[in-house]
Amino acid sequence: MSAGAQGERAASGLPVRGAGESAAARFGELTDVQAAVQRTFADFADRELVPVASRLDEKGELDRALFKKVGELGFFGMRYPVELGGSAADTLSLCLAAEELARGWLSLAAGSMMQALMGTWLVYRSGNAELHERLLKPAILGEKIGTICMTEPDAGSDLKGITTRADPEGDGYRITGKKTWITNAPVADFFTVFAKTGKTLSTFVVEARTEGVRVGRPIGKMGVRSSPTSEVFFDGAYVPKSQRVGDEGQGADYLAEILPQIRTVTGALALGVGRAAFDAARRYSLERKQFGKPIAEFQAVKLKIAAMATELFATEQVVRRAATLADRGASSAGVAAICKSFASESAARVCDDAARVLASYGYSTDYPVERYLRDVRFTLIGGGTPEILALAIAREALEGAP
Ligand SMILES: Cc1cc2nc3c(=O)[nH]c(=O)nc-3n(C[C@H](O)[C@H](O)[C@H](O)COP(=O)(O)OP(=O)(O)OC[C@H]3O[C@@H](n4cnc5c(N)ncnc54)[C@H](O)[C@@H]3O)c2cc1C
Repeated sequence: MSAGAQGERAASGLPVRGAGESAAARFGELTDVQAAVQRTFADFADRELVPVASRLDEKGELDRALFKKVGELGFFGMRYPVELGGSAADTLSLCLAAEELARGWLSLAAGSMMQALMGTWLVYRSGNAELHERLLKPAILGEKIGTICMTEPDAGSDLKGITTRADPEGDGYRITGKKTWITNAPVADFFTVFAKTGKTLSTFVVEARTEGVRVGRPIGKMGVRSSPTSEVFFDGAYVPKSQRVGDEGQGADYLAEILPQIRTVTGALALGVGRAAFDAARRYSLERKQFGKPIAEFQAVKLKIAAMATELFATEQVVRRAATLADRGASSAGVAAICKSFASESAARVCDDAARVLASYGYSTDYPVERYLRDVRFTLIGGGTPEILALAIAREALEGAP
């Protein structure tokens, strides 16, 4: 086996797979369609993302050309019905595609996942044919960009503390408040906004061009630098009732619906970054010589390689299982929380070990490992911190599930 080649495969199920054929695919655990999805996005990541990700990430902006290509591969429509321009793919396929995109470049994968799920899901769930035509169909093609506005400066983990208000006026509402940490906000055409209607929470689709909507400057970030994130200000922005999603007061139900989905796919994103870090550390350990031999021959380095392979093997099983349970309608808030928590903590450890294997080169911006180490921390935070996920897991565990 040569040390440097991308895409070489181990006979075992261990995660030695630059070109993306996973243990599940190797052992025939994926359907033909799922395996084809995985191959398509793995090839795209290897050809179009891996070679340019570090250089483009320094720009700190969404790469519209690559974003469009992700759309052309069908990623943005995977969760939506064929009649709306989607492909009605299952959650496992979405996770396989997300994992490969994240292996290539987490910034682009995060922005793309926002578009494929969080930023468009509630427009779809509105059931409003006019919104489907005007916003969802173009979003599936990557021609319009959507995002989700839950977080506020004083309401992060505690979304019950949202203070953005939607006050009834005429045949609609005026929305007033401030959101923060909104992925893709600087490039968004529309926002799904959670706002209080009296004491309850409701959800609205607000277009960026609406009078009273203003996007702040991008927030400087440690990682996922090319997934732009901003504050969004709503200063009495008027939306007609037809842009309310569901009934007044249904916002909490929609949060309960979307958060487990976000958490399952974030597990897949974390797995992708972890695999990228493992690939880099493995190749480096076979090539780098010290004391006259490849560092992979030293037991201390072998222990790190073994630890990383073990983490990724386990993480792959957790993410696949959570996605499969979601497809069977058998997942739960606890399972989705386990998926994100396990995968992001595990991937963070793998990225740290990889940086140690590369030592000074893991600290150098000439190698991608320092970026993986910075980027992976996003998967720990976005969609809920490990502490908040632990509350969801404990709640179910104490009730006797999962
Ligand atoms: C890069 C990035 C992109 C993001 N994109 C979006 C987006 O597009 N849309 C969006 O709405 N949000 C987005 N977010 C926001 C993200 O979901 C929140 O940052 C996250 O939910 C945590 O909120 P917080 O940062 O305010 O932390 P806080 O809630 O202030 O938490 C601070 C600390 O206290 C702990 N803590 C809080 N409450 C409890 C508790 N009850 N028990 C134990 N510990 C607790 C937390 O675990 C954490 O360690 C993004 C965040 C990042 C970093």
